[in-house]
Amino acid sequence: KDLSLIRNFSIIAHIDHGKSTLSDRIIQICGGLTDRELKEQVLDSMDIERERGITIKAQSVTLDYLADDGKTYQLNFIDTPGHVDFSYEVSRSLYACEGALLVVDAGQGVEAQSVANCYTAVEQGLEVLPVLNKMDLPQADPDKVSKEIEEIIGLDATDACQVSAKSGMGMEGLLERLVRDIPAPKGDRDAPLQALIVDSWFDNYLGVVSLVRVFDGTLKKGDKIRMTSTGRDWPVGEVGIFTPLRKETGILRAGEVGFVVAGIKDIHGAPVGDTITHTKTPDVPRLPGFQKVKPQVYAGMFPVSADDYEDFRDALEKLALNDASLDYEPENSDALGFGFRVGFLGTLHMEIIQERLEREYNLDLLTTAPTVVYELAMDSGEIIYVSNPSKLPDMANVNEMREPVVRASILVPQEFVGNVITECEQRRGTQLDMQFLGSQIQLTYELPMSEVVMDFFDRLKSITKGYASLDYNFERFEAAKLVRLDVLINGDRVDALAVIIHRDHAHSRGRLLVEKMKELIPRQMFDVAIQAAIGGQVVARSTVKALRKNVTAKCYGGDASRKKKLLEKQKAGKKRMKQVGRVEIPQDAFLAVLKVN
Ligand code: GDP
Ligand code: MG
Repeated sequence: KDLSLIRNFSIIAHIDHGKSTLSDRIIQICGGLTDRELKEQVLDSMDIERERGITIKAQSVTLDYLADDGKTYQLNFIDTPGHVDFSYEVSRSLYACEGALLVVDAGQGVEAQSVANCYTAVEQGLEVLPVLNKMDLPQADPDKVSKEIEEIIGLDATDACQVSAKSGMGMEGLLERLVRDIPAPKGDRDAPLQALIVDSWFDNYLGVVSLVRVFDGTLKKGDKIRMTSTGRDWPVGEVGIFTPLRKETGILRAGEVGFVVAGIKDIHGAPVGDTITHTKTPDVPRLPGFQKVKPQVYAGMFPVSADDYEDFRDALEKLALNDASLDYEPENSDALGFGFRVGFLGTLHMEIIQERLEREYNLDLLTTAPTVVYELAMDSGEIIYVSNPSKLPDMANVNEMREPVVRASILVPQEFVGNVITECEQRRGTQLDMQFLGSQIQLTYELPMSEVVMDFFDRLKSITKGYASLDYNFERFEAAKLVRLDVLINGDRVDALAVIIHRDHAHSRGRLLVEKMKELIPRQMFDVAIQAAIGGQVVARSTVKALRKNVTAKCYGGDASRKKKLLEKQKAGKKRMKQVGRVEIPQDAFLAVLKVN
């Protein structure tokens, strides 16, 4: 394709504003798929994604569009994930594009995540086209939403495209605008090869497949390429595009986006953000790479049955081939035995990984409460990082303990702003800014990351009837009065239940925690004492009373179906329990600390 006939773009949208539907519609109009194939939303291909309605992995599609000017354009659409946990993937997708569509639900308005991503796009010099979606809905208010886009993001939205991705209304107009307003890529096809790895994933048959954007030169099947970060050379086995099905073309030229397979077996051999060139032109400058993604929260994961340990390790290894942000190392817990300490981007990422491990690899796992990474300045001058409460060193040798702090941006309709401020204050937040933007208010807070990654987002949603939106980024480590809260079951400290919390909250949380655990730990044949302790001093206690009779006695005999239900419930509950000493502790009890705010 002639460079002037190529358009590389991406879609920025908040979850549920219609990105997948819009993508499907574009693919359909450009003839990329039949109606039957479209039935399955193609761009969200993983099962879990489809169920949760979020896009995790960036994907791309190359399409032909016959425009009104009679020319056929090549549209390269690079998908981006929509959830706050995955925002690091967005910036690299944007880097490969010249433009982006900002899709906003015309009945909902602008949300914080989209604002952050939009700023990234504008900073990277992309042309951003506002698109008002769901115009078929009666509550669509294009004037209000256009004004919001102008006030909050600063984009001119007076003649924003108005579409219904669902009905197809306005779609042709959108594609014409896209071709007209998004600039064609620049690049020299005769120059030495310079290509960027936008994404890499592991395929069971092909090995590592990388999505690349070629900036200069030409990449062909059979070429010898070099990964500039590792200096390793690889023969190119396959080159092509996604239509969205994988299609070999044997060549990718400057300005184009597609895949390359080069016999690489491990995702770290083709790291995202790396620059590819030819072996014969090793001096080609590296494109500005991307920060290595660092996990933000860590949790212990343990197989319920010790026999599953090997399978668990294999499964993690496989998942990590696909997901460079997944980090793990073996962990040995007194209470839970052998498992792994696993690092995640956020708690949603954690849930998704746990779900995949259980569903795709048939494992029963117990997860401990997630924790952020703490920075410890030791008396010796050494700085260490701790991501496991039970591995805290002797506090006598610690000069200062620091917690990660984030800068959070929250967009919320005015009526709920009081609730949000109260919530932020309870979580030790410091307000930096408050701005009225259209009918919404933008709050900027500094908050301890531990307070944000746990259940903050869910809490925000529930105190604002679902209207608040959130975006946050790590700022720095800050000294804080932190302590480890230990939990003792029948007098024994259970390492996997320990948490690090702020000293001012330690007593109240300790009390709530033992109460919550009392509800969660099933009654046994003997009394179970639950205690919370700080530095050996017990601050709260509760007792799960011994079981007196058969549980089913509670059902008053007659009601057989209730009896059956209860037994089934017990059986299901049984699955995720772990015997700690003589006491059976269910999964929920390990996560109880998340529920006591
Ligand atoms: P995504 O999370 O941004 O990918 O959003 P989806 O494309 O999955 O859409 C979220 C929901 O909005 C789905 O139930 C869609 O059917 C619905 N939806 C998307 N576009 C439209 C539209 O133009 N009109 C209406 N009425 N519903 C839409
Ligand atoms: Mg989607």
